[in-house]
Amino acid sequence: MLRLYDTATRRVEPLELRRPGELSLYVCGPTVYAEPHVGHGRFGLAWDVLRRYARWSGLAVRHVSNVTDIDDKIIARANDEGTVVAEVAARSEEVWWKAMDRLGVERPDEIPHATAYVERMVELIAGLVAGGHAYAGGDGVYFAADSIPDYGLLAPGPLDQLQAGARVEVAEEAGKRSPLDFALWKLAKPGEPTWESPWGPGRPGWHTECVVMSLDLLGDGFDLHGGGIDLTFPHHENERAQAEAAGRAFARRWVHSGLVVAEGGEKMSKSLGNTMSLPELVDRYDPRAFRLLALQAHYRRSMTVSPATLEAAGRAVEGLDAFARELPDARDEAPDAGVRQRFAERMDDDLDTPGAVAVLYGAMRDARASGDRAVASAVVDAWERALGLVLRSHEEVSPEAWAKAALRDRARAASDWPGADAIRDELVADGYVVEDTPAGTRLRPSR
Ligand SMILES: [Zn+2]
Repeated sequence: MLRLYDTATRRVEPLELRRPGELSLYVCGPTVYAEPHVGHGRFGLAWDVLRRYARWSGLAVRHVSNVTDIDDKIIARANDEGTVVAEVAARSEEVWWKAMDRLGVERPDEIPHATAYVERMVELIAGLVAGGHAYAGGDGVYFAADSIPDYGLLAPGPLDQLQAGARVEVAEEAGKRSPLDFALWKLAKPGEPTWESPWGPGRPGWHTECVVMSLDLLGDGFDLHGGGIDLTFPHHENERAQAEAAGRAFARRWVHSGLVVAEGGEKMSKSLGNTMSLPELVDRYDPRAFRLLALQAHYRRSMTVSPATLEAAGRAVEGLDAFARELPDARDEAPDAGVRQRFAERMDDDLDTPGAVAVLYGAMRDARASGDRAVASAVVDAWERALGLVLRSHEEVSPEAWAKAALRDRARAASDWPGADAIRDELVADGYVVEDTPAGTRLRPSR
């Protein structure tokens, strides 16, 4: 059984599912106002691997991830550019998904947008006000953090220290009674998109968005709430606080993915000039190299990404492709059960991908020495289906054709059968035999 580190209990815990065999997963998605950077890519890969591995091990997965399409940063960007919020949000979201597609990150099953849920957020806030957990205070409606007994469960330290930090950070939320209180509804300022509410026109606070959308789409007591580690506090704690105050059973487990740091452990930031945009990375390097790098780091730890590490990982991926070419028919063999089990043992232990990758490299050495196709089959299956790293076993297939094959897999995953068929026809016209395997579309030249 899969065990994961739960940020709330601070222990690795067995994933006991709400409904056996079905994993419900909510991951906080992007605020769409700028190009995604390398850290976003690592984030996308972390959840993609969890989702693929859960499915590989036999679970049905329902993955919901939101898009925050109303936010101070989007408004600021729209004002700078002299355009409207919806335009900035739509354009930035398109760039986000294109970059994720190129990384081979599967799209969530559902992608709710905050602006489509405002009415339901107003309902939740009204309930919190009626229940004495929230109050109208000058420039908005605020949640009273001390109205729930265990506020601070997901906080990294004692509340009095956090309180001091919070006081410094949010001077603009003038109507708050206490520094740990947070905005549920922000009354409109001139030039902002607004919605009606019992407290006056305005817009919802970010923390309210995810509570409403996760419970609406996944139901009470869903299995896993995930996000980047930087969202643990206050964002996730504030989501949890609202659900608790509203009397709703919220996520059973909390899981967080680590950040990307620059060489030497320095934080990456635009002002330090050491960031790389994700579109730039996938243009310059094999996206599979980035995936391998992410797999070689544990998902909870910080990882470094640099031209040197990407180039080294690119050479390692070429080595994997060479392995797949040496035993080209391995996929047709039933995978070796021993390799599968050793791989699963590492993955089940809080997604120990570095350990799992080591198991696969060991098995590759064995398969090369013995020519055992069942072992090779287990290796290829684990890389491709469980970890999402597709090996190129036919040199004669062009990168463009592989890209089309990946597009076709996405169309199939989205049940877009006409789209998938159209791409297959194109590939056939390009001179390929197109086969469906459990690992996705497989290509070989037809002559
Ligand atoms: Zn969220």
